[in-house]
Order: sequence, then C-alpha cells, then structure tokens
Amino acid sequence: MKRLVCVLICMLLASSAISFAEDAYIPVYTLDDLAAMGRSPWGRYRLMNDIDMGSVEWVPMPFSGEFDGGGHCLYNLRVVAPGPDSRITRDGNRKEYDTVFLGLFSVLDGASVHNLRITGAYVATENTGHCFAAILAGMMDRSSVSAVFVSGRVHMTNRAVMAGVAGVVGYGCGTLDRCEARVELVFEDRNLESRCEEFMGGILACGIGTVNACSVDIDGYDSCHGYVHNGGLVGMYYHCGMEYDEAPVTNNIISGRITFFEENPDRRAYCEATVGEPLSKPTRTNGNIDTFESQETKNYDVVLLPETCEVPAYETLVTPPTAASWGYTQHRCSGCGYHWTDSYTPPRG
Ligand SMILES: [Zn+2]
Repeated sequence: MKRLVCVLICMLLASSAISFAEDAYIPVYTLDDLAAMGRSPWGRYRLMNDIDMGSVEWVPMPFSGEFDGGGHCLYNLRVVAPGPDSRITRDGNRKEYDTVFLGLFSVLDGASVHNLRITGAYVATENTGHCFAAILAGMMDRSSVSAVFVSGRVHMTNRAVMAGVAGVVGYGCGTLDRCEARVELVFEDRNLESRCEEFMGGILACGIGTVNACSVDIDGYDSCHGYVHNGGLVGMYYHCGMEYDEAPVTNNIISGRITFFEENPDRRAYCEATVGEPLSKPTRTNGNIDTFESQETKNYDVVLLPETCEVPAYETLVTPPTAASWGYTQHRCSGCGYHWTDSYTPPRG
C-alpha cells in the first residue's frame, strides 16, 4: 500500500512538472533580464512590465525562442551598431553577401515574437559592410511576428552594396501578422564606386512570407546610386534562395510616402504602396488599402533627408506624462518644421 501511494504521488508530481514546463515563461522585468535572453536564446520569455531602454546602447542579439511581450512596451531603444553575428543574404540575382544586422534582435531564427510594443526607437548605422537595419529585427528566418507595434527612426548611411532599412524586419522569411509601424526611414547611399542593392519597407524591406492585417505610416527618404526596391509595406517580395513559399499579402493599410532618387543609367526605380518589386508573387493580395505616395526626384546632388534646412534650429519641448498618457520630448526645427520625438516617460498612473 505504501508503495502504491508513493507511486501515485510520484506520478502526480511528474505530471505537474510537465504541465509547469509547458506553461513556463521566464519573466522579464528589467534591462538585465532582457539582455540575459541572449545567453539562452532558445527560451520562452514573457515581458512583465514596460522597460526604459534609454540608458544603454543596445547590442542586437540573435534569438530563436518565444518572446511574449504581454502587451508591454520597450521604450527609448537605441541601436547604433550591428550585432556580432552575420548571415548570408541574397539579392534578386541570388548573389550572396555576408551581412550584419541591427534591431532589438539581430536575427530571429525559428522564433516567435508577439504582443509587444517598441516605442520611440532610434536605430542608426554608418555601415561599410552589407547590412539590414529595422526596429524589431535586422533579419528573420522562418519566424513568426504578430501583434508587434514599432515606432521610431531608422537611419542608414551606406558604404556597402546589399543594404536595407525597415520598420519591423529588414530581411528574411516568415509571418508578419497584425503588426503596426509608425516610422521614419532614411537610406543615404555614400557608395559611389559600385551600385548598391537597396531595400526599404514599412514592415519588411526584402523577403517572403505572410504579411497580413498590418498597418504602416511611413516617411521614407532614399538617396540611392544603385537599385531601389521600395514599398510602403514590403520593398521586394522574393525568396532570395530561402526555402519558403509565397504566401498572402492581405488586408494591410498603408499610409505615408517615400521620397527617393535612383541614380542609375539602368534605372528601374521600384516604389509601390504594397510591394515595391514582386519578384515572387504573393498567393493573394486582396484587401490592401493605401494612401501611399511615391515621390521620385531626379536631382542626384542633394541627399534626401527629413531635415531640409542648411542650418537647422531645433527647439525642444517636453510634454510630461499624465496619469493615463505617455510623456515625451519633441525636437522641432523652427525653419522647416521637421520634428521627432524621443525620451518617452511612462504614464504616472
Ligand atoms: Zn529645418
């Protein structure tokens, strides 16, 4: 009898341990907790509260686990250098490039990220190597991103060939569902020696997969001495040699504009609301709505930037938080009216 009881108790303990393991998320409360994800990148994590990331220059890390944002916000993310890892990317001719990545994550590999907000991000690089930069991840490989909101600025000063900027993900394959991007994207091409392969998209700069029910408000600036692949939603839709099938690009809402030039005697200048260049065809493209504007210029001497004054004059206006709303600092040029916001502060309530 004693043995039977022991066996029963052992079985109970074992089954509860299994169900605990199935439900177990590692809680993320602090910036240190967030950085620790890089040491066990295959884990399951849940963000437990908002985190101010403004005190560090964040180092992008590869991630292959699950990250549940719990509806919380990472604010004031600042990324000014690529992560330590690199991957091969391929252009429309499947030419290969050893490439580095900027974002909260460098590469999402078989990862799932959902229900997360990233507010007031600043991602900037002056890259001599091939590079993709975005707010959530520079690259994704067979990953799922859903209900992720990003806002902020991504600015690339490019001296390489294969390069792109995006709101949510730079390059790759997977699913992007119910994401929202309110972004300013800038691509300044300083490589005058060779023609770059440039990509820009509010959600995804270059890649393939499902893009469904996303919302974009984009303000893009692209000065390119190579080949432009720009989309309000997706810059170029193509498998790029990745083993991933065409999928629906449906029910997205795209507003804003991309102002660009393509200095190239072989000019193609892809710039469309939904998909800039559909080198692969999405299986469906119904339900996409846009008020997107493609604004091409032909003056190749003037770098296209959101700030247009020769001598900008910035005024700083701090809006304090209230019980229910976020505070922030706005920087506004009194000459041209260009402005951005940073230094978010959480509601007091
Ligand atoms: Zn100005």
